[in-house]
Amino acid sequence: MNKKYFISLSIAAALTIGSLPTLGTTANAHSHTVEELQKQQEGISSKKEEINGKIDEKKSQINQNINKQQEIQSQIAEISTKVKDTETKITEKTKEIDETTAEINKLKEEIEVLKQKIEERNELLKERARAIQEKGGSANYLDVLLGADSFGDFINRVTAVNTIVSADKKIMDEQKRDQAELEKKQEEVEGKLADLESTKASLESLKKDLDSQKAKKADLFKQLEAQQASLEVEKKDLQQESDELSKMEHQLEGEIQAEQARLAELARQREIERKRQAEAEAAKRASAQQQATTSSNSSGGSSSTPTDTAPSAPVSAGAWTAPASGTITTNFGWDVLNGKKRFHYGTDIAARGSVPISAAADGYVIKSQYSSSYGNVVYITHSINGKTFTTVYAHMASSSVSQGQAVNKGDRIGYMGNTGYSFGQHLHFELHAGSWNASKSNAVNPRQYINF
Ligand SMILES: [Zn+2]
Repeated sequence: MNKKYFISLSIAAALTIGSLPTLGTTANAHSHTVEELQKQQEGISSKKEEINGKIDEKKSQINQNINKQQEIQSQIAEISTKVKDTETKITEKTKEIDETTAEINKLKEEIEVLKQKIEERNELLKERARAIQEKGGSANYLDVLLGADSFGDFINRVTAVNTIVSADKKIMDEQKRDQAELEKKQEEVEGKLADLESTKASLESLKKDLDSQKAKKADLFKQLEAQQASLEVEKKDLQQESDELSKMEHQLEGEIQAEQARLAELARQREIERKRQAEAEAAKRASAQQQATTSSNSSGGSSSTPTDTAPSAPVSAGAWTAPASGTITTNFGWDVLNGKKRFHYGTDIAARGSVPISAAADGYVIKSQYSSSYGNVVYITHSINGKTFTTVYAHMASSSVSQGQAVNKGDRIGYMGNTGYSFGQHLHFELHAGSWNASKSNAVNPRQYINF
């Protein structure tokens, strides 16, 4: 796995932690700001997304590989069937060749026997011819014939001589014919044998070809298996990386929640303190009235700036006040933006000119940052009757508060603007019953609490 990456990530995290105490201009130098934590978390998220993309890529590569393996396997099976087929044919041809060879051998033997018989008969005929010649040629024949003591005997003798000679000749002719037939048959069978041998040879070359194809496919299959194994290892490593990043992401989420909770707790304590002071002041006023004396007004000055071209929204009594004066252009709920249906998690207030934005209630600034969607945005945590709320002020032209700062209801925190994903100057205001989260699951309709 990619250990290097983790080491560098850990170093980066350590560096971030190390650099924190130097940011000690704000009150809470002891911990990461929510902004910093979220920046880290975003970095981890995008790295994880990248890795998950790679995991998906590996998965599809593995699937492709497995498909190829299956294809190769079925090709090997097909070739194996062909090899078996060819082997069977070769066995058949070999048997036929053996049979034909045996037939040829038998024919050769028969021909040999016949040749011998013909030879013998030939010898016999030659012998006879010689015997006749030696004894004076046909005279001897005549002797045989003339030796007849009657015409009947003579006829008998002529017939006998003829019979002997022609019988011998006939037998020899027959034998010669037989020999010729056998030789012709031998020729035929030898032709058949040659055919068989050539068929067998081509079958054997086919088998050789198939065997080599099969061997190549088997090689390819092995390669694919090895490739799959390494892909699986790579995937496993990436998965491990992704899991570890998830763990880090989770841990940071916990830190973010803790920081938000800490600020919410500060807001809660402040609320309690304010109530206590208000009660003490009321008691003091009551006793002063009893003494029937007047005292000078010692209330604090207003935070509004005289240079504002539009006035700050009038501060309402009670826990909440409107964050800006202007026209409500979009309410909380489903609406259509640029032709797309979307859920609008806040209330949009629009006005022209330099329009101050006020804190909707007492609280602490959790974040004051810029994002591509929200533009200049401020998050404030509030504690109202022991309950935590978070307000979001987006698309501001500028923000005049910083993280960790305490604000009072109606305090100016910046000016209305058109920054981020915004089309025309307006304030996008969100109210969350609880802490803010990315899925905005705590978002409620601000009009449930605030009169705009
Ligand atoms: Zn909006």
